[in-house]
Amino acid sequence: PSITRGVTVEIPKVTWEDIGGLQDLKKKLQQAVEWPIKNAAAFARLGISPVRGVLLHGPPGCSKTTLAKAAAHAAQASFFSLSGAELYSMYVGEGESLLRNTFQRARLAAPSIIFFDEADVIAAKRGGSTSTSGNATVGERLLSTLLTEMDGLEQANGILVLAATNRPHAVDAALMRPGRFDLVLYVPPPDLEARYEIVCVHTRNMKIGDDVDLREVAEDTELFTGAELEGLCREAGMVALRDDISATVVCGRHFQIVKRSLKPALTRAEID
Ligand code: ATP
Repeated sequence: PSITRGVTVEIPKVTWEDIGGLQDLKKKLQQAVEWPIKNAAAFARLGISPVRGVLLHGPPGCSKTTLAKAAAHAAQASFFSLSGAELYSMYVGEGESLLRNTFQRARLAAPSIIFFDEADVIAAKRGGSTSTSGNATVGERLLSTLLTEMDGLEQANGILVLAATNRPHAVDAALMRPGRFDLVLYVPPPDLEARYEIVCVHTRNMKIGDDVDLREVAEDTELFTGAELEGLCREAGMVALRDDISATVVCGRHFQIVKRSLKPALTRAEID
């Protein structure tokens, strides 16, 4: 991938199969992201305007970024990644010019997906935060640049904006207008079946012993996020090595040792 400051360009290698659970969500993203890019003519024929923006929200570590990458892979689209927090922290005017520049490059590299992590940092609700001098705040200027760029996207030109946030209520309503983020999707923490699929994905390339019961691992990890389950699998491998550097398999007890030492960051109250 070519890298310039703050922006990375690549077609990601992650596929839908690398993501455990979330079948319905994957289907929705296929239709909203993959179809318009792959079947632009069909959309034009029926006169349907594809969505231009999708807002993914949900707790950290539950695959918002990975879903955006898998959608880009499926559509064979260039993937531009920007972080709201990073834009916000730049020198005056630099964030806006990086935003404009990214849209420009995305147009040149189309089909493209622009992924915005921590979108709430720049798309926070307006009003009440204007600086005392009456000038627009950093966030307001970034948000208005983003809205201008999104409004300027022509129909069906193969550019889609995917944004992610852990704080959907903090996002300015102006982003939800038609032609902007028309689709808002909740990415939940994994349920039992999804946890099972996630540990299957992350042990795929590991040598695990016959005594490892991945169903049981899934049952014992309520409230764990995908990121935490990935960490658990990796750490079980590390425990096996610490146990015996010439180990050939990771055993059930290695998983149990790690499981006992971990506590999920999410609480029930946060997801109900
Ligand atoms: P954040 O809000 O912190 O940016 P996120 O929701 O964007 O988090 P990701 O960055 O996509 O989460 O996921 C973090 C890691 O957890 C990834 O490396 C991914 O492999 C793993 N992961 C999360 N959910 C899943 C899942 N459903 N299946 C497989 N792996 C997952």
